[in-house]
Amino acid sequence: MFKPGIPQVKRPIPERQNCFDQVGSLAVALTRWSSAGFATVDESVYTSRKSSCAACVDPESGASNFDPKGFGGIGKCMICGCMGFKLILLTEKCPLAKW
Ligand code: SF4
Repeated sequence: MFKPGIPQVKRPIPERQNCFDQVGSLAVALTRWSSAGFATVDESVYTSRKSSCAACVDPESGASNFDPKGFGGIGKCMICGCMGFKLILLTEKCPLAKW
């Protein structure tokens, strides 16, 4: 829905963002996480990751690459389609290598 004043961006949706692939990516991430003993980052790393996501914008449009309301408020990376939950998982990485 168009909202005046908010940049509306048509991003090319990576193939991996379809629902089935997202479920597959989630399964892979959770398997990797369980293999690492369900290790999570400490608070300072989480805060740093969160700040990176909050400041992550598309260089052409200036639109945010992170939707804090995505997945019911968990947050969503608009680049990889992952849940903000990934920020606490030690085994996850930013798809743009920002963290
Ligand atoms: S690309 Fe990286 S820094 Fe940007 S929103 Fe996604 S996970 Fe966060």
